[in-house]
Amino acid sequence: MDNCIFCKIVKKEIPASILYEDEELLVFKDINPIDKVHLLIIPKKHIENLFSCEEKHKELLSKMMLLAPKLAKDNGLEGFRMMINTGEKGGQEVFHIHFHVYGGSEELAKI
Ligand code: 5GP
Ligand code: ZN
Repeated sequence: MDNCIFCKIVKKEIPASILYEDEELLVFKDINPIDKVHLLIIPKKHIENLFSCEEKHKELLSKMMLLAPKLAKDNGLEGFRMMINTGEKGGQEVFHIHFHVYGGSEELAKI
């Protein structure tokens, strides 16, 4: 996707603070964190959002899900929240699917 900011991060065309990378996934710090730790887990392949996901994506989605607690622990979190904004009416601003993983404050940011 030519105009997708997260595809550009995948291609290293724009910088990001990358915390994890494998052949399918990329994890980087959110540029505008809502908590002490705020990470974004994305697939390298461009998928718009959960509405675009099908049966064939289930392994990728579970891989993203299972990565969240590992990353949370590696970043010092004893607990975290995960959020997947889906669609404009669901608060999604970047239309490349991403899981927000955040935590670290005494008072969890509630959305
Ligand atoms: P959404 O509202 O789509 O669920 O969340 C998009 C998130 O991406 C926001 O939390 C925003 O701060 C983050 N974001 C947008 N552009 C960039 C960027 O260029 N770099 C990084 N690291 N995060 C971004
Ligand atoms: Zn993309």
